Amino acid sequence: MEPSPVTDPLEPIRKEIDEADRQLIQILARRFDAVKRVGSVKQAEDQPLLDTERERRVQASWIQDAEALGLAAPFARRVLKEILNHSRRMQESLIENRQGPARRIRCGYQGQAGSYSALAASHLLAHRSGGESGLVGYLTFQEVGKALLNGEIDYGLLPVENSIGGSIADVNRLICDHALHIVDEEIWQVEHVLAVPPGMTMADLRVIRSHPAALTQCETFLSSLEDVQREPWSDTATAAESLKEGHARERRDTGAICSEEAARLHGLDVLARSLADRECNETRFLLVAREPEIPDPRLPCKTSMLFRVNHHEGALVHALDVFAKAKVNLTRIESRPQPDMPWEYLFFVDVEGHMEAPNLAGALIKLRSCCSHLRMLGCYPSRTRKQDVHLDLPPAPPVPRPEPVCIVETPAAESARPHPARASVRIGPVTVGEGRFVLISGPCAVESLEQIVDAARMVRANGATMLRGGAFKPRTSPHAFQGLGQQGLVYLREAGRQFELPTVTEVLTIEDIPAVMEYADVLQVGARNMHNFALLKELGKLDKPVILKRGMSATIKELLLAAEYLLNGGNLQVILCERGIRTFETSTRATLDLSSVPVLKRLTHLPIIVDPSHAAGDRELVIPLALAAAAAGADGLIVEAHPRPAEALCDKEQALNPDDLARMTAALRPIVAAQGRIW
Ligand code: PEP
Ligand code: MN
Repeated sequence: MEPSPVTDPLEPIRKEIDEADRQLIQILARRFDAVKRVGSVKQAEDQPLLDTERERRVQASWIQDAEALGLAAPFARRVLKEILNHSRRMQESLIENRQGPARRIRCGYQGQAGSYSALAASHLLAHRSGGESGLVGYLTFQEVGKALLNGEIDYGLLPVENSIGGSIADVNRLICDHALHIVDEEIWQVEHVLAVPPGMTMADLRVIRSHPAALTQCETFLSSLEDVQREPWSDTATAAESLKEGHARERRDTGAICSEEAARLHGLDVLARSLADRECNETRFLLVAREPEIPDPRLPCKTSMLFRVNHHEGALVHALDVFAKAKVNLTRIESRPQPDMPWEYLFFVDVEGHMEAPNLAGALIKLRSCCSHLRMLGCYPSRTRKQDVHLDLPPAPPVPRPEPVCIVETPAAESARPHPARASVRIGPVTVGEGRFVLISGPCAVESLEQIVDAARMVRANGATMLRGGAFKPRTSPHAFQGLGQQGLVYLREAGRQFELPTVTEVLTIEDIPAVMEYADVLQVGARNMHNFALLKELGKLDKPVILKRGMSATIKELLLAAEYLLNGGNLQVILCERGIRTFETSTRATLDLSSVPVLKRLTHLPIIVDPSHAAGDRELVIPLALAAAAAGADGLIVEAHPRPAEALCDKEQALNPDDLARMTAALRPIVAAQGRIW
């Protein structure tokens, strides 16, 4: 008898997925069609293209709907960001194409197909030309410049700075030395992969070749490999090409770090992705032309210029003050040497705004009187507008930099002195201070990946904007759980990334600083270490926010003097934390000294948060103390919470469970609002 055909249980589900995909594409097409129509109306009525308020509203309701359907907000936000970017480009190209019929554009870049420059160029041109475009690779930046000046190409796309590597001197020099005009910019997310000849495995790998900058960007990955040599190559795409079948330099023990596209182009297998040490690895490209192109004034724009100030004291300050007075935001300033005038400099400056906008045009006229040379390099659509990840919040106010002094030996005299503007500390999208209220929450210790991911999900759903979790734990008993160490840092960062929460973790010793610096966004100095001046001095040298907890028997003045160690070293990103002190009272773990909040407000410009968990030592007491701290004017809270407190390896008695956390947040909201703070 014939066996009856076995039905694959996946088949009907896959059909459903295919159907959903089809609908998704149709819906996207419908959305973009509507976007185009909006663009035409805006164009006809001469309305600005960018409506920030509307974008904010669309984002807020999109995230709300996504969350209601059980989709993770960070994921929904990333998808929407892509859609909105694409929509904006479509509306822009409507305006750009209006200026003439589609024409074939020839654009030069340094490198070859599959290089990041080539990818960025084809992306930019797809939106610009409206017709077909031709890309031409050159060996050097100089050759791109030459080809542009002699009419071989219409545009050149040049990488001018990288978010990790900084500015690219050869490109700046090229723009400085020739009559080139900047007409557009592009921000390209660099994503390195490890490509190898087909069939090769990690075990065969002995050599990795790539551009030296790419090798540097993947330091952590490379140093995790044993017995693998690094081989510098002219560029990433050429390195990939050298491995393709039949190439003279092909080797069966060699891989290349390059783009996914370069790997595909040369028929290579990809063994690993996301190799860079930092997730954010972006390159900013400038599109240059022989003639200026003034963009439509309704587009958000940037204007670039090059100037030399008169050689006297304060001249540069005067020049920059012109922009400040006109409320023009500077996005880049860089100095260039002048070979004919050693030790006098030209300044490259990019500002936000259209050069014909009244405030900028006025500033540019005034600027002339402070300069001995001024050359406009171009006005072009801006692509670096920050996407605010906390979409429900209004944009953060500007952060005044604090002076590196919070108190001196005589606090009475110091408190009488008017303090500089209240400081605030920026941690990615989160601001501590400046009228904000921040909730940092998470477990006492990172215990496993699953635990910290569950915790991140829970705290994020309850209004926390940062995730805490100890990897190195200062335990009173040497027999107690000491934390997962380095592995804990890896898990914490992974959970933070999944839920877009910056992370806070304690640094116990000077030796731990490099690891904690690499993985966490804020370093916490625990109560037991507040007097560890050697540690504080080292932390003072860093460019990384620090939460400094009050020692268990430290006075407020001692806390401030400890902070002074950080500030004196140059690290101004200090958040003070009241976490309770030892008193004769034994009914709580410590006595929460809430008077320190208003006292510190009087004595220092630094932001102050409160940790009710370690003060209370008992979850029942955490919520009332948290509410009191908010009412006393704290800039935020750091609260221990665990998805399953009964299983906690550390401080389980004080950990809030998901319900407690939700109750606390609900009770906090009106108090925070009554304080006039934004959460
Ligand atoms: C902690 O935050 O986990 C901690 C150990 O706090 P403290 O240093 O205030 O005791
Ligand atoms: Mn704890």
